[in-house]
Amino acid sequence: MKSKTNMCLESMITIKGQGPILITCPHNVYTIRNNVEIHDKEYYVSKIVNELYGMLGPEKCTIMMWNEEYFKNNTIFPEDPNHIKNLKNSTWNKKLKIIKNRIQKNRNPSKKNKKQPLFHIDVHGASDNWYAHNKYLCVGTDGIKTHKPCIFSLFKSSLIKIITKNLNVPLTLNEPFNGYSEDFYTLSHQSLLQGFFSLQFELSYSLRREMVKKSTKIEKLKITIEELYDSYKQILHTIQYKQCKQKQITKKRKKDKKQSNKTQKLKMKK
Ligand SMILES: [Zn+2]
Repeated sequence: MKSKTNMCLESMITIKGQGPILITCPHNVYTIRNNVEIHDKEYYVSKIVNELYGMLGPEKCTIMMWNEEYFKNNTIFPEDPNHIKNLKNSTWNKKLKIIKNRIQKNRNPSKKNKKQPLFHIDVHGASDNWYAHNKYLCVGTDGIKTHKPCIFSLFKSSLIKIITKNLNVPLTLNEPFNGYSEDFYTLSHQSLLQGFFSLQFELSYSLRREMVKKSTKIEKLKITIEELYDSYKQILHTIQYKQCKQKQITKKRKKDKKQSNKTQKLKMKK
């Protein structure tokens, strides 16, 4: 039996699908940061994410967002899932774990039932005012740079190539939004900790408006996401990636050994 609190939390969040490409939009309603600051609702993001889901389908894609109907009928502001200080109390963080387990259970028989690589795009809406041009995409990559440096170094050039080729809008990396902080957990950071490869997409208002008016533009975004996912999966099988990972493991082992020798010596002195 579900408790009342659990039922309430579940009606606040909408999750659809079971595919390995997770697309989220945590700011589709007004949220609250640090108990006092109200973070604006980002227009059109839920429509874009829902359309992407319709195009990719439930076997390829999973989406998560706030249930807008629930917040229309209840005048409350949920905590901003992109600005979390204590992961244990975060409902979205709990949901990320459930989604991860669900994707990993849903293995692909045509791929010898191997676990599917987990991929996450966190969609946000920025204002037009950051640049002279009103349509732009800013991709936050600092999370993968920090947590998955081997993949990042191999992935960066294809990221730029794929986005520029398909979307035809000015692209910036991490300026002004990097999707990562040392002081709190962004959603990208949280999903990286769960084993996802995660990018934050900030789409300007004019670009979002154009996308909801012309579905061909969302189709281009869908192709971009699919190509990025394919490129990520290919990198996981390259020799360069495997060598880089091996180097990291050796470095960590050496560091751990040094640390354990130091501790042993200290114990002996006592
Ligand atoms: Zn946002």
